[in-house]
Amino acid sequence: MLKFLIISSFLLTFGNLFSEELPFYLTENYNPRFEYRNFESYVRSYQSTKHNHIQGESRIARRDYDVLSYDLKLDWRNPLSSPTALTSDRYYNGIVDIKLQFTKVTDKLVLDIGKTLFINSIKINGKIIDSLDIRIDRNKEELVISNLVSINTSNTYSFEVDYTYKGDLNYSDRSGFFLHEKGLSYKDRGKTYIVEEKVAYTMSEPQDARLWVVCNDSPHDKAILTSSVTVPEGFIVSSNGKSTITENLDKSRIFNFNHKYPISTYLMTFAASKFDTFSHTFTRKTGELDRLDTNSLVPVNYYFWATDNPTSDTSTQIYNVKKSFKNMVAMMEHFSDKMIPYPFEIYGMTAVAPFPYGGMEHQTMTTIHRNWLAGAESGIAHELGHHWFGNLVTCATWQDLWHNEGGATWTEALWAEKVGGKDAYKFYTYRNASNYLNSNQFLSLPAIADVTIPQLFTGVGGPLVYQKAGFVYHMLRALLGDEAFFKTLREFHLAYKFNYIETSDFADFWASKNPNLEIDLKVFIDQFINKPGHPKYELTPLIYDGSNKNIPKVRVKVSQIQSKIQNVAVGTPEVFIGYLDLVMYKDTTFTTSDISRIKITQKDTIIEFPNITYVPTALEALSFDFLCISEDKQAITSIESDEIGDEITVSSHSNGKSPSFSIENLSQGITQIQLLDLNGRFIQTLFESQTEKGTLKFSNDLSDVANGVYFVIVRNNNRMKTTKVSLID
Ligand SMILES: [Zn+2]
Repeated sequence: MLKFLIISSFLLTFGNLFSEELPFYLTENYNPRFEYRNFESYVRSYQSTKHNHIQGESRIARRDYDVLSYDLKLDWRNPLSSPTALTSDRYYNGIVDIKLQFTKVTDKLVLDIGKTLFINSIKINGKIIDSLDIRIDRNKEELVISNLVSINTSNTYSFEVDYTYKGDLNYSDRSGFFLHEKGLSYKDRGKTYIVEEKVAYTMSEPQDARLWVVCNDSPHDKAILTSSVTVPEGFIVSSNGKSTITENLDKSRIFNFNHKYPISTYLMTFAASKFDTFSHTFTRKTGELDRLDTNSLVPVNYYFWATDNPTSDTSTQIYNVKKSFKNMVAMMEHFSDKMIPYPFEIYGMTAVAPFPYGGMEHQTMTTIHRNWLAGAESGIAHELGHHWFGNLVTCATWQDLWHNEGGATWTEALWAEKVGGKDAYKFYTYRNASNYLNSNQFLSLPAIADVTIPQLFTGVGGPLVYQKAGFVYHMLRALLGDEAFFKTLREFHLAYKFNYIETSDFADFWASKNPNLEIDLKVFIDQFINKPGHPKYELTPLIYDGSNKNIPKVRVKVSQIQSKIQNVAVGTPEVFIGYLDLVMYKDTTFTTSDISRIKITQKDTIIEFPNITYVPTALEALSFDFLCISEDKQAITSIESDEIGDEITVSSHSNGKSPSFSIENLSQGITQIQLLDLNGRFIQTLFESQTEKGTLKFSNDLSDVANGVYFVIVRNNNRMKTTKVSLID
């Protein structure tokens, strides 16, 4: 109920802000989660082992080497030469020269190889390795080279692997390499479209690069990539980095790519089709100290089918590259202003279809589903945002993916803020929180860091890895304030640039940069990432005696009760530390309220509000800045005293406006009885005198008091009791 009320009031505000055109991402049925992953069309069919989360230790499965570079040559003439996409079209030759350094003396090298790859030969430093020393474990998807001699840890070794890709049909299983023939019809959101030109592309996240290239397929092992792809006449290739083209005598063309910065295998991409192209240029501001790439001009290249490029961005044609990409440079400017400048030498997007996802943040060359050309600005922001969250600073393991996806999801809100201001940002981040909170299974969801690889991009992955994690970034901003938050973010990106992080690195870094906070940032991050759940609050109003006995003073008992919930996920903290925005409503229609930010470090917290001079009609926990839920708002039916001692009991007999009262368990001393309205305003004193131990009976004529419900507050020595009385003629 609370959420509904607050959303309604925001929508009203937005209605005024954007009276003509509500941004699409603020419309009621927009669900960001489904925008960038088209779950329906593609179900990962393989099993992956769940890595149990080990706290305080690295989860990186390290092999005895570090890849320094991949030099990759792909020959895609066979897949692209015929008009068909039959099984016989789905093979190509590849040669990958993997330069690496061993970290331990060993006689063995293990690489990843998918079931679609077959080895022709392997050379070490130019010398052919005996085929008897080469073994493929198809279950483990491992290529094992044995009997290596005289390996040391100071030299660099070149392993040149000559292989053939022999693919399956698309979608039947993990493919890695996708091929669609020209004219193929495909369905998208209920409509039928056709593939305009034959298209081949790779798609690797999380563990499918090994299906099209032999590699060390772990996100932490970044390396430099140079590559070339040979394609028939007329085809254009997009990939990571900058390209040059050479033409062969048979008119086939070689697209050579050179990317200056380290890249993880899951971020490598190749796409080829008879693409049309156009470009923008993003200009990095001069004089910025934290520029990582020194070139001022950053080309932004787009690849798409010619039919999706109408003459203007106002064309009514459904797919319109000019319209879809028109804010790209503004986005790059905004993200560069807020974070560090865009860190790579080039950027671009390639639109393909059919594509099993919405978008994929391949480093410097995002692949998007063609349907994003119908407008998907938050998705475009998301994939660009990944170039800081994920590509510049990469998840070390798949359990750290929240860093990438939460960060990119948060940058969607950062762009919404640029377009629609603070309220748009707030609404967008709150939508993330509420999508997570409203997901049916939220009570039993695991920790973000415990989401298994097959779940990452489906099922529980969305609400956790994208939306809850995205809200964690917003909570850090709310906690630190803009100045410290963006400063830490810039420092973080610089400290881990072109590198990888584990969750513990992230928490350590943010805590070390903000040591003077009232709460421990390490604990704060850990509780939302490494542990499941979120706080659930029970809010109990109490009243205490202030110096002026005619004015009620408010005290609120804040209790975290998440551990009492049925089906609560195992491991949910009994106490989440942080802050709570407590709403105190002043009236019974819940239209006016005060909001106070309260620090929470324990299960039960009692807070006094000396400046609140009314009895709140209801209390609520607000979850705009700090993830939580609270019981639905309800009018207060009684106010309990928290004083110790025999409880005073009050019974009233309502007799029109002459109620009679019986008050029991009084002790000897001064007893004062007051009538207050429901807003806590003093009406009149009903009784004030010395009383004996025992029971007091009295009645009042209250005919001059307006009809309504009132509080009766009994004070006896240091004790207090409140009840309600109805006064009606
Ligand atoms: Zn993403």
